[in-house]
Amino acid sequence: MDTLHTDNLHAINQLCFQHEATLVAVSKTKPVSLLQEAYEAGVRDFGENKAQELQAKQPELPDDIRWHMIGHLQRNKVKYIAPFVHLIHSIDSLRLLKEVNKRAKNEDRTINVLLQMHIAEEDTKFGLDQAELKELLESEAYAQMEHIKVCGLMGMATFTEDEAQLRREFQSLKRTFDDTKANYFADEDHFKELSMGMSGDYTIALEEGSTMIRIGSLIFGSRDNH
Ligand SMILES: *Cc1c(COP(=O)(O)O)cnc(C)c1O
Repeated sequence: MDTLHTDNLHAINQLCFQHEATLVAVSKTKPVSLLQEAYEAGVRDFGENKAQELQAKQPELPDDIRWHMIGHLQRNKVKYIAPFVHLIHSIDSLRLLKEVNKRAKNEDRTINVLLQMHIAEEDTKFGLDQAELKELLESEAYAQMEHIKVCGLMGMATFTEDEAQLRREFQSLKRTFDDTKANYFADEDHFKELSMGMSGDYTIALEEGSTMIRIGSLIFGSRDNH
């Protein structure tokens, strides 16, 4: 049964307040009734990892929710979320960013994005490495984009209980964030978000400089039926 874990929600909110970080409640696979309950408990930032699920839930819930796309995004799905998405955390290629810019232009709006970095020592598929990040930010195509705003970086650490390793991975992302800000966004205060930390590692992520944590199972219960 799906229930809202109110005690966890309050504890996490408290910690976010202390660190001046934003909690994104990751509601993927959960019914809108449970999201509504979280909304009534004060949550305004919701994260989903599938474009069509995001598109289906958005009209069912209050208008002042900020919807975050946190999962891998295919270019042909951008159109489903372009009209309303608040922040896309998972930009992992110039091609995807181009499509977001195009769809944002069609909607006559600017879409906020984070660039997803590959930080895990384990071999996962998604995210940019340092060279790709540099190439993207120095490309002519990026310079021409008028309908996206790069607000920071996102990363997912290795799925491990090894605290030293998690800390190392988050520190490495924080360094990349600071360097990128200094080199490319020194005069732009919108480059300020560092999205890192999930249910298993968010306390470490906050200690290492996260400004945005993405928490699912601690708030909404496990998704082991999926
Ligand atoms: C599912 C998901 C989360 C939340 O995971 P939990 O361990 O349930 O907190 C965070 N980030 C991304 C990208 C996810 O897909």
